[in-house]
Amino acid sequence: MKITTRIISGYGLLIAVLAGLVVYQVYTIDRMQETNRTLSQINFQNAIGWLETLRDCEWVAEYTKKSFATADPDYLNKLDLYRSEFEESLKQLNRNASSDEEKTEIRRLLQQWDAFTVDLELLLKRLPRGGLAATPPVLLEHLEQLTLQTGSVYQTTIQSMRSKVDNSRRTGETAVMVLGIVTLVALAISILVSLLIVRSISKPLANLTEGTRAIAEGKFFYRLDTSRNDEFAQLARDFNTMTSRLNELDEMKKDFVSHVSHELKAPLASMRETIQIMLEEIPGPLTDKQKRLLELNLQSGIRLTAMIGNLLDLSKTEAGVMEYEMKNQQLVPLVRNAIAELEVQAHERQVKLQAAFPKEPLYVECDSDRIVQVIINIVGNAVKFSPRHSAVGIQVARIEEIPHGMPASWRRLIEPGKEDYFGLVVVSDSGPGIPDTDKERIFEKFQQVKQGKKIAGQGVGLGLAICRTIVQAHRGAIWVEDNPGGGSRFMLLLRRGEFEKEPAYPVTEALPSE
Ligand code: ADP
Repeated sequence: MKITTRIISGYGLLIAVLAGLVVYQVYTIDRMQETNRTLSQINFQNAIGWLETLRDCEWVAEYTKKSFATADPDYLNKLDLYRSEFEESLKQLNRNASSDEEKTEIRRLLQQWDAFTVDLELLLKRLPRGGLAATPPVLLEHLEQLTLQTGSVYQTTIQSMRSKVDNSRRTGETAVMVLGIVTLVALAISILVSLLIVRSISKPLANLTEGTRAIAEGKFFYRLDTSRNDEFAQLARDFNTMTSRLNELDEMKKDFVSHVSHELKAPLASMRETIQIMLEEIPGPLTDKQKRLLELNLQSGIRLTAMIGNLLDLSKTEAGVMEYEMKNQQLVPLVRNAIAELEVQAHERQVKLQAAFPKEPLYVECDSDRIVQVIINIVGNAVKFSPRHSAVGIQVARIEEIPHGMPASWRRLIEPGKEDYFGLVVVSDSGPGIPDTDKERIFEKFQQVKQGKKIAGQGVGLGLAICRTIVQAHRGAIWVEDNPGGGSRFMLLLRRGEFEKEPAYPVTEALPSE
């Protein structure tokens, strides 16, 4: 189902429940109002009606007694008047009666009234002119029963009103209960709907975030799941098309770099060789100026060869075809080899290489050529960026704890506690140093301090990126810190190898280059 359909139907259901609730409430309140209106009207009419009936009943009783005592025509007229009023009131009350009980009681009252009227008429006809000494007992009995029955009808009416009030209260209570239940149901539905919506959005969003991160890390083979049936599936399809296009471009770029680098290698080597032969004056003697120019040419050739070498290495690591021959190696001899390679360069720049090695042999697990390449790169950089007449320190040490300055990104990969020691190479210089913002960045491809501005000694920014890939393959770490005395301090951490009894090289304390 589509996300929008889900949201619309979820919230539509919720709105329908709430609308139903509102309609029910309006209907209930209307019904209660209607009941109350009827009740108050009936109450009022009945109250008046009963007052009149009771009063008329009393009048009828009084004028019956007076009429029989005196046979006075005035009294007899008044009796007629109150009898007809009583009858009228009874009819009115009978019309207003709403419950069956009330109707039964009123009917009984009417019957008693009829019986009373019949006897009254009969006795009135026989009434002597001067009246009677006492009201006939049959009439007194009728009057007593009439009063009692009128009271009884009154009680029944009150009872019926009470039950109506109770009904109204009960309807109110039911409405409140229904309101409570429906509110809870609506709340539960809204929570459920929100959870479903959040779930249906958050999972594909997390996948998309993961995919974007993978692409940012250069993993162009990453693909998103397109099996869903919503807008995210379309997004995932577009994302996959984008990544496959990026992958194609990346492959094209890698092929291009590796082919061009390969093709450049051979002519460059032959050019270097030709210059070398000319410098050795094999074809004929050279003037000092010509020699100097050719030397500069040779230097450029060497730099170009190094750059092409780096580009080839990079395309190999990116293609995942760089091979490592991991062996148990002594670290110090590898550092010595690297230093030996850089002695000429250091001498030319009048930079001193000061090495300090441990007395005990220190074994690490590594591919010796690649680690030498890494050390040459960082020592070479230190030499390049150091001022003339300064010194570059190269220390090798066995350490049991991971140094404090190691960035968190490396620390996560190292799994402390598994190794009992590490081999550490520290290369410190007194060059310009590396600002904190660049300390991690310079290990990425084509990244340099003061990007865009050319600083003496800078190449194209590939050396450290290659170093990082090599060190990652060794499950070691490489990072840079500030040198306490100024400049920078590159750290290379390698995992321990197996200790071998006989050290392959004699170990010395320091190796000055000059
Ligand atoms: P390259 O030296 O060829 O530019 P690298 O990857 O070896 O490439 O170095 C990347 C950048 O890091 C350099 O351009 C430089 O800006 C900076 N850098 C490396 N080593 C040092 C150092 N010892 N002192 C100062 N800056 C350095």
